[in-house]
Amino acid sequence: MIAEVIIDSKVKKLNRKFDYKIPKNLEDIIEIGSRVLVPFGNLKSLEQGYIIKIKQQTDYEVKEIAGLEENLPEEKINLARWMARKYFCNVSECIKLMLTPGTRSKSKEDRILEKTINFVYLNKNYEEIDFSEIKGEKQKKLIEFLKQNQGLTIPEIEQITDISRATVNSLVKKGILKIVNTKIDRNPLINKKVEENNKLQLNENQQEAYKNVENAIEEKKFEEFLLYGVTGSGKTEVYLQLIEKVLKMNKSSIVLVPEISLTPQMLDRFIGRFGKEQIAVLHSKLSIGERHDEWNKIKENRAKIVIGARSAIFAPVQDLGIIIIDEEHDSSYKSEATPRYDAKEVAEKIAKEKNIPLLLGSATPDMETYFRTENSEITKLTLGKRANNSELPKVEVVDLKYELATGNKSMISTALYKEMEKNLKEKRQTILFLNRRGYSTFIMCRDCGYTLKCPNCNISLTYHISQNILKCHYCGHVERPVKICPNCNSSKIRYFGTGTQKLEQEIKKIFPKASTIRMDIDTVTKKNSHEKILNKFKEENIDILIGTQMVVKGHHFPKVTLVGVIAADGSLNQDDFRANERTYQILTQVAGRAGRDKLPGKVIIQTYNPNSFPIEYSKNGNYDLFYKTEIELRKQLKYPPFCDIILVGFTGEDEKEIKNVGDYTFKLLKQSLEKYEITIFPPTPAPIDKIQNKIRWRIIAKGTVTEDVTIILNKCLQKLYTMPIKHTQITISINPNNMM
Ligand code: ADP
Ligand code: ZN
Ligand code: ZN
Repeated sequence: MIAEVIIDSKVKKLNRKFDYKIPKNLEDIIEIGSRVLVPFGNLKSLEQGYIIKIKQQTDYEVKEIAGLEENLPEEKINLARWMARKYFCNVSECIKLMLTPGTRSKSKEDRILEKTINFVYLNKNYEEIDFSEIKGEKQKKLIEFLKQNQGLTIPEIEQITDISRATVNSLVKKGILKIVNTKIDRNPLINKKVEENNKLQLNENQQEAYKNVENAIEEKKFEEFLLYGVTGSGKTEVYLQLIEKVLKMNKSSIVLVPEISLTPQMLDRFIGRFGKEQIAVLHSKLSIGERHDEWNKIKENRAKIVIGARSAIFAPVQDLGIIIIDEEHDSSYKSEATPRYDAKEVAEKIAKEKNIPLLLGSATPDMETYFRTENSEITKLTLGKRANNSELPKVEVVDLKYELATGNKSMISTALYKEMEKNLKEKRQTILFLNRRGYSTFIMCRDCGYTLKCPNCNISLTYHISQNILKCHYCGHVERPVKICPNCNSSKIRYFGTGTQKLEQEIKKIFPKASTIRMDIDTVTKKNSHEKILNKFKEENIDILIGTQMVVKGHHFPKVTLVGVIAADGSLNQDDFRANERTYQILTQVAGRAGRDKLPGKVIIQTYNPNSFPIEYSKNGNYDLFYKTEIELRKQLKYPPFCDIILVGFTGEDEKEIKNVGDYTFKLLKQSLEKYEITIFPPTPAPIDKIQNKIRWRIIAKGTVTEDVTIILNKCLQKLYTMPIKHTQITISINPNNMM
């Protein structure tokens, strides 16, 4: 028998298949989806490949498959092929997302995946030991010690006694001791404290929502739902009860959350309801070994609930019963690196194939999702108010232009200052949100206007005061701060813009007695330390938490009654069709942190644009009004969901080649898409035209990306790969998150 194999190679020739003979001894075990080792070209070493088809004969003279590594279900291979077409990438790149983490790695450390520990035991019964063989006092002592304490590790023995590893080894040689190698599971939840979280009686809205989804589960049919409700309206409780339902049917659930590592409290509620044993978590902060073990726990059907970030959608669950995507508007569900897949679209594909419901949840749905509820493609389930009847916080918008005019140059407006002061007096907690980290966000010469940029990227450097360095947030380049302008030698170099470090410093100056804690990428470095920061804030009753985006994700702090947004304009002025949507979402989410419990909450939004509609509508939490305004704009300007944006990116070091490839691609696209209503704009440099020394150009096209258009785009890409292009990488993405 012959197998068609896709070689896992970085060589960009898309998806080329090669025939191999299946050896007799593997004929019964090899199947579509198997990961195999094959000889390839003149290479001495074997290459990894995936079987996509099995057939009787071939027209070529072929080599034999050298070995089998792992079997992947055929449905996964089909999904990978569907993804490769939809997201313009290699099948093998998609398959990698579906393999047991770590097993595909070529490096040695990652290959040591099974974690085993050596335990020391006596090899014979104590009575049988011939003590005349034993000379040293240390050796006798060790035997006596082990008589009472079998099954310790060598480091433990070294720690408890003064006996060294050498003594253990010499007794092993003599056959008196033995070392037993035992496999253990690494479990990221091992140190989690479990607080029981009892099932609640659903309120009327929750029940209505629950019943709709339950119905789809019972009838075994695909249906897509949007659970639409403000933060605190009880969405999570609905998820929990649906999962319980699915579990009772002995089926599995996948729950996607934005970056699970950032929402430990969400995880706590799942563990509190279902216990640690049947839950597996998958996210980027886990070690490769932990991911490996969690993956196997799912594969072996020991864990029936998978909670994870984007890539958990590929978890090898048995008998899937429901997919839930919380905070479905979150941009992290779309991958920005190859393969550029959208976990929501993949989830929809899987749910359709398995005839199960897909439940999306949000307080501020993605414009496209909401648009689809209006077209009845998605069933909208609304939760009206907060489930524990706490009031939504009062929101006040402060005009920073007015503050400046009245002489307040501080980052804290008079209104925010007063509220913070009051909060401190009443011993309540405050969260301040600022979406820029570092100290100063750009450095400019007052005389010549020169701004300091990263030498590798066309991006301003940020000053970090704690380490006294200038840092590029794109590539990590660092340099010493300067006092003299590198361009004109003037000494009028000034540091502008405010980051979280500067804000923290200023808060300490204004409220010297208040305790503060800061949470941004710079403080959240080591594993779990986001959780530590949040726990510290909660348990030690720190007065003020200062942070970036990270502080807005689903945390629940009963004592937080005030949230201050230092500058709401950051995300507003971006050159991106989603800027309004992002602003609305982020303001609503931040506001949702205040007054979640018995105490009423207050939110102060500082801005230079108090009348812009995303700010205006977020003030009253009026998503519907926001949606109506924004969807009209999108319609007029021909943006998604009324039209798709195709972004063809060219990156590389050779600008001349990039321009040539760009021009050629432009002509090719014009020609190939002639019949379709698609406007194609000529190649231009990207807004950020250099990152990590790679020059970036792009072509933008607007139109509707149908199945046909997708096929044509794939053909264009194939054609480009047959060209003698040396240094330029070409990518295609549809409606990317990042338009920069
Ligand atoms: P969301 O996921 O929409 O933010 P949650 O499910 O976290 O909402 O619920 C918010 C709060 O309300 C939680 O403290 C939760 O325990 C409580 N809650 C949820 N549903 C109910 C209910 N049916 N009865 C009483 N309290 C509820
Ligand atoms: Zn200068
Ligand atoms: Zn850089």
